[in-house]
Amino acid sequence: MLIIDSHAHAATEDVLPVRFFDGWVDNLERLLPPDAAPEQRNALNAMFRRLNQDPNCDKLIAEMDRAGIAKTVLLIVDFAFAYPDQPDLLREVYAMHRELMLRHPGRFIVFAGIDPRRGQAGLELVEQALRDWDFRGLKIYPPCGYSPDAKELYPFYGLCEQYGVPVLSHIGPTSPTLSFKFTRPDDIEDAAFHFPKVNFILGHAGVVWRREAGMLAAYRPNVYMDLSGFQPEWRRGDLDAILLEHKRSGLLRKLLFGTDWPIHRILGGQKQWVDAFIDCARRGILSDEELGWIFYDNAAQILREPTRGSLAAGVPSTETEDREGVLT
Ligand SMILES: [Zn+2]
Repeated sequence: MLIIDSHAHAATEDVLPVRFFDGWVDNLERLLPPDAAPEQRNALNAMFRRLNQDPNCDKLIAEMDRAGIAKTVLLIVDFAFAYPDQPDLLREVYAMHRELMLRHPGRFIVFAGIDPRRGQAGLELVEQALRDWDFRGLKIYPPCGYSPDAKELYPFYGLCEQYGVPVLSHIGPTSPTLSFKFTRPDDIEDAAFHFPKVNFILGHAGVVWRREAGMLAAYRPNVYMDLSGFQPEWRRGDLDAILLEHKRSGLLRKLLFGTDWPIHRILGGQKQWVDAFIDCARRGILSDEELGWIFYDNAAQILREPTRGSLAAGVPSTETEDREGVLT
């Protein structure tokens, strides 16, 4: 079974800053029982830090191999405006991702991340990444304090149209050190409407706003959803119901498998999450064909990866030619 993980991050504090995880710990601490020992907070902190220590992605590659994940999309988030007291490492993070592609050839697809408040300099950086460094998409993170519909983002979406690459936007609540204001699926509606040739992926398939996300994915040809971040729902036994709901709505060709590594490592590794989907197919929630769409075909189509059929037949990939073709 071929698998693409459409949503992950390099696990390092340069990519996912300590302040991001501090917020999670703050929130979890309030949810602890009243008699919880004070050292539990320190234990939570230590655990998140430990899960976020894989700067060369060697552990991730080992997990991918164990789970049978052929390729993983690594998403860069530009936190500079959200955490202005922290050093701005965006250029270093871009360089780090170029090295990761060289260290693990053929295993990673990188999406540039940008805050639109960077303006022209940000536009030049993203264009360089798409044109010269083989980055293959744009990740935006509205909890950093902007709407995905902001007009300042339109030139970036224009670049995505020019280079034929998708935009992935975070949807739903996140670390409490960030704003949840622009995290509803509907916040992306104007952009999806104005850029019909750009594919927009709703991160975490809307999570708490699944129906709203499903509505956009059902009615807009260029809106997709990634299934990362549902590990808590799976642990609660809700994954079947979620997949069946999307299936009834005819949305299985709009769903992309994703893990959100390393955020959900606390709830299990890549293999467990892959196995949860395989188990759904074994129990008839999904057919094998539908599982193949979610695991590979849907992502391959919008990422311009070779089809399963062409890989099985040993046909060399024409993806490079295709991507050059869209530049004209
Ligand atoms: Zn993520």
